[in-house]
Amino acid sequence: MRLAERRALKETNFDLFDSVAKHPSGNSADESISLPTEDELAAIFRDFNDRHFDGKLPTAKVEWSSRMKHAGRCYYSDRIIRLGVSYHTYYPEDVTLTLKHEMIHLVIPNHGSEFKREARRIGATRYARHYPGMLRGMKYLYECPTCGETYPSRKILRLRSCGKCSNGRYDVRHKLRLVRRLDDN
Ligand SMILES: [Zn+2]
Ligand SMILES: [Zn+2]
Repeated sequence: MRLAERRALKETNFDLFDSVAKHPSGNSADESISLPTEDELAAIFRDFNDRHFDGKLPTAKVEWSSRMKHAGRCYYSDRIIRLGVSYHTYYPEDVTLTLKHEMIHLVIPNHGSEFKREARRIGATRYARHYPGMLRGMKYLYECPTCGETYPSRKILRLRSCGKCSNGRYDVRHKLRLVRRLDDN
């Protein structure tokens, strides 16, 4: 894969959200929640790799990101998986689901049919959930008509196509379309 393509993929690999579910309690995150350490995440990674992938996935470093607002992101060319602290403080029960999702991205960068099959096979989530503050400042939600990837944005996007489908340059076939305004977050 060309470097520009990889970079485009990397920059647009938002693992965001479809509006699947609100947090059941609707309360803010519990500060006392303890998340697995990075060593524990590494152990879970190895376990899932053995159990679900016959140990064939490339080894990746699993890190926490306290800045990241979304659930997870896979920098697959660097073999780094980042999980969002904010998201998982809110949904600690999703840590392993997010990790599985990102592990699939080590070999399948998009959310196409192959991804869906793998997600079903190993019991990974395909979509993250919303939590209060996740989309703060974001006004519009766009979607790729081809792969369904969603892109929150602060401003109107014109002539913008999906980074995953377009191979690093504008492609009208994958022009992002506005799904809805994000007013209430
Ligand atoms: Zn994803
Ligand atoms: Zn796309």
